[in-house]
Amino acid sequence: MTTTLNIAVLAGDGIGPEITREAVAVLRRLAAQGHFGLNLGSAEVGGAGYRASGHPLPEVTLRLAQQSQAILFGAVGDFSLDNLPRELRPEQAILGLRKSLGLFANLRPAIIFPELASASTLKPEVVSGMDLLILRELTGDIYFGQPRGVRILDNGEREGFDTMVYRESEILRIGRVAFEAARKRGRRLCSVDKANVLETTQLWRDVMTGLGKEYPDVSLSHMYVDNAAMQLLKNPKQFDVMVTGNMFGDILSDEASMLTGSIGMLPSASLDANNKGLYEPIHGSAPDIAGQDKANPLATILSAAMMLRYTFGLEAAAHAIESAVRRVLADGLATADIDRPGSRRVGTAAMGAAVVAALG
Ligand code: NAD
Repeated sequence: MTTTLNIAVLAGDGIGPEITREAVAVLRRLAAQGHFGLNLGSAEVGGAGYRASGHPLPEVTLRLAQQSQAILFGAVGDFSLDNLPRELRPEQAILGLRKSLGLFANLRPAIIFPELASASTLKPEVVSGMDLLILRELTGDIYFGQPRGVRILDNGEREGFDTMVYRESEILRIGRVAFEAARKRGRRLCSVDKANVLETTQLWRDVMTGLGKEYPDVSLSHMYVDNAAMQLLKNPKQFDVMVTGNMFGDILSDEASMLTGSIGMLPSASLDANNKGLYEPIHGSAPDIAGQDKANPLATILSAAMMLRYTFGLEAAAHAIESAVRRVLADGLATADIDRPGSRRVGTAAMGAAVVAALG
């Protein structure tokens, strides 16, 4: 008997509807092939949510997300709403979903597809074959620690301050996600910290080391964040899975994604403690190309593959999507953002259809 996957599709703004449509077509194809049953719900989010009901994360959207096992998210952002109060801006929808669903683990793969090695700003021989996964803790660290603020000192000077803080339980839960993810890949985990300077990250290192004893099949190493930033540029192929806190992860995951050189190719996942997840491309709503059949749907399609792997444990189906994407790129198809000499330029819909066809 096949299981039925309950998925909320939140397309959002700009190119969101175009790219999620293609990812849904891919999921439907796999369902038709008998991999699983599908129960899809959809709702407005972001600017579309605000226009529909006055809030970027309408009640009905949040409820759908809460009741689903996974969320396929397009993108939010609408420059015409940038003058709204901060809490009503489209981007607040993502923060609201992360908070209400307890999504604390952010997973970002950075993979170089052979055909796109020349899109990186690094030399092809440095990046070709790169396939790494960065795990960033999303809900703690100096971004949320209290106290924080700007105070006036006795001499009248202003002083800004933030608090870097991690509890052992928070480190353990992101650590477990990281070790489990490493088990699904190359079984090598590099924990990134600044234990030579920061007490919080010395605790991070100690907890990761302790946890490593439960995962003897995963080889654990530690690296200081400054060195990690250098090593990502020097030799990114040395990494399999990296795990780090919120602030270091914010910076390193953006650095790693740019090594691939193509924003339209990069998926991501944000997971809770039970592997429920929100899956989305790392790019935004790209209003400059919205509605023109120009957007690359592959980041969203690859996000659907991550969903099958991390929330539903359907490795074969996830792999089928990734292989189909590889085949389509090898056949020379390219949307404008990944156009290269000798490639055949296609639009969003044709790229999606090609992936569906490559699934057989
Ligand atoms: P963006 O990622 O939307 O676009 C940056 C550039 O990359 C643009 O030139 C765009 O055309 C291109 N691009 C993005 N995705 C593409 C794709 N799939 N295929 C081809 N080209 C693609 O970033 P931005 O322009 O700075 O922001 C636009 C809006 O998106 C803003 O409102 C911003 O706040 C929002 N945003 C949302 C998210 C999200 O939903 N997670 C993330 C980043 C930005």
